[in-house]
Amino acid sequence: NKLWQLAARPEGVPTAEHFRLVEEEVPTPGPGQVVVRNEVMSVDPAMRGRMNDVPSYVAPFQLDQPLEGGAVGTVVASESPDVPVGASVLHGLGWREYALLDAKHTRVVDTAAAPPSAFLGVLGMPGLTAYAGLLDVAHMKPDENVFVSGAAGAVGSLAGQIARLRGARLVIGSAGSAEKVRYLVEDLGFDAAFNYKDGSIRTQLKQLTPDGIDVYFDNVGGEQLEAALFRMNLHGRVAVCGAISQYNRPDAQGIRNLSLLISKRITLQGFLVMDHWGRRQAFVEEMTGWLREGRVQVPETFVDGIEHAPDAFLGMLRGENLGKMIVRL
Ligand code: NDP
Repeated sequence: NKLWQLAARPEGVPTAEHFRLVEEEVPTPGPGQVVVRNEVMSVDPAMRGRMNDVPSYVAPFQLDQPLEGGAVGTVVASESPDVPVGASVLHGLGWREYALLDAKHTRVVDTAAAPPSAFLGVLGMPGLTAYAGLLDVAHMKPDENVFVSGAAGAVGSLAGQIARLRGARLVIGSAGSAEKVRYLVEDLGFDAAFNYKDGSIRTQLKQLTPDGIDVYFDNVGGEQLEAALFRMNLHGRVAVCGAISQYNRPDAQGIRNLSLLISKRITLQGFLVMDHWGRRQAFVEEMTGWLREGRVQVPETFVDGIEHAPDAFLGMLRGENLGKMIVRL
């Protein structure tokens, strides 16, 4: 059983040296437990935060201990009547070939209805993040102008499409390459998009939002948040989902124009998807309908082999993914 441990804590940008691959015996289940052969696992920006030894909403990864994260696989040994051998399950012990866990910490998923990767992306945590952030946190309404940063990623690509499907007047996206920008407009139906690495963010956003922004779905923080605040309309709402532009910086960048919140009565609201599980059923129903009707595109980028899991994670932080980054074991 190959599995990845945290070998050292990064300061700044993590590298291969912070990960260690070890090999152990394949575990056997005790009472109430199952062993899952993982088929796909997720790499997420939040894992960067868990590499730091600081208290947060999830415990930090421990040195010389296995990393964790979302995964889907097949039960190969079971001591639980609820989760039999052969079942496909979603659980939280990725970064390893075989996971041993209590059956109650798995959720059986229907991989005949959707591929395993969908439960880590469009029908899973990133999908619900996009849905809840846009509709329940930012309260997006039809005919509003929406800006999504990190728009070619797992959460952003869905947030932009949900905005379009829920009747936004204008959906603008930003991403880190010309190819991603083209993809957003031509394949995902964004009205326009820009490359945040290509000239002034503030100027590009101004040109694309002549009537301002009502809702900003913020995946990146930093300079793009500042630029968006300049463009927000009166009573605009910002769903603060992530701040990936800051995660590898030892010193966080300041937002210099927060006084605009006052004059424009802007709501800046941070949120965590785990507070929104109550919306999961409504979300899955609506998303499943859109998928069936072919109205949502689901970009995914696959990296093959457990040996390459850190490459996938580090590549995702560098923007090598289009849509959800998935490791196929
Ligand atoms: P993505 O699939 O979007 O992958 C991360 C992307 O971030 C990369 O592809 C890259 O795209 C972009 N990026 C990297 N560095 C920078 C930078 N300096 N400035 C701007 N963009 C950068 O990841 P997710 O969809 O999984 O997550 C997106 C955001 O949502 C993250 O901030 C994450 O922490 C947050 N999140 C929050 C949740 C919550 O509960 N609040 C739940 C899930 C995610 P590019 O090529 O465009 O640079």
